[in-house]
Amino acid sequence: MADLQEYKCPCCGGAIEFNSTLQKLKCPFCDTEFEMDALKSFDEDIKDEGSDDYTWQSQAGEEWQEGETNGINSYSCKSCGGEIITDATTAATSCPYCGNPVVLKGQLSGVLKPDFVIPFKLNKEAAVEKMKNHLKGKKLLPKSFSSEQHIEEIKGIYVPYWLFDTDVDAKLRYKATKVTRWDDSKFNYKRTDYFSVLRSGKIAFEKVPVDGSSKMDDTLMESLEPFKFKEATSFNAAYLAGYMADKYDVTDVQSQERANERVKVATINAFTRTVEGYDSVDIEGTSLKLKNATAKYALYPVWILNTNWNGQKFVFAMNGQTGKFVGNLPCDKGLFWKYFFRTFAIDSVLALAAQFVLHLVM
Ligand SMILES: [Zn+2]
Ligand SMILES: [Zn+2]
Repeated sequence: MADLQEYKCPCCGGAIEFNSTLQKLKCPFCDTEFEMDALKSFDEDIKDEGSDDYTWQSQAGEEWQEGETNGINSYSCKSCGGEIITDATTAATSCPYCGNPVVLKGQLSGVLKPDFVIPFKLNKEAAVEKMKNHLKGKKLLPKSFSSEQHIEEIKGIYVPYWLFDTDVDAKLRYKATKVTRWDDSKFNYKRTDYFSVLRSGKIAFEKVPVDGSSKMDDTLMESLEPFKFKEATSFNAAYLAGYMADKYDVTDVQSQERANERVKVATINAFTRTVEGYDSVDIEGTSLKLKNATAKYALYPVWILNTNWNGQKFVFAMNGQTGKFVGNLPCDKGLFWKYFFRTFAIDSVLALAAQFVLHLVM
């Protein structure tokens, strides 16, 4: 007589049944034998794994107080629709996105006051110098690109960022194997041990940045990271003097998906690094629950130079705090990709609690 409780084989996924007469479990597909208790607890672990929970509280940005926007101008570009703000002493004569000289002045409306700003640390001279060094010796560049006059058009823009803070309760389940080989005079043997490895713990993220401007390419902006948040300060319109600030057009809520993705990838990477000593490790299940998840609104400094050449758009961008830059040049495509690597959220992983539990080894 067979017991009706059915389990899935942790090794091959096949259905195995407990035979109450034999008091034994054996997978009919891969021949692996199991202890009842081990299989039961494996089954329970899978059951209470739970699903992901990404819930953010929206607290980013503040309302402008009466009179605060008096010294701030708002501009929009007739040609590309780009919107920027400046302080009253800085005239926006051309669009930083498309280079079009016509920009219209309008009313600042529907935009939140930033919580933080990282002030420019590298001034225009430094940005121009870096650009010139970058172009040095590249003789095949079109004149219009490398001319002094054109390089002088480099613009300092505060790019809007949503900064996500969250604690994560994570549970991860891996299938791992260890392979042993040996032989005697007649046969070669190969034995594969399967392990169900569980990791659970907490990981905290601080200021995971997602750029809030659709005019700024996400990948380009992420390759300018990291920005050092410890140099950020509360926003004050005085920091705008001489610079432009991009108006966000992607809200914090719309940016949550990108934040979730960055948090998930960084969490999996951090936990997976602790699963050591196996010949193979595959992730089988994850459950991430966000706690105290909030967003803030910040402006980050970026030097940017857009060039249109032969109908193509070329972008040079430099981190206005650290000097790191990315850029593409008209006859040197390879160089563009060389700098186009991504620094993933490793920089954002601040604390990794040492609460890993090796739960069950079969
Ligand atoms: Zn099996
Ligand atoms: Zn424009």
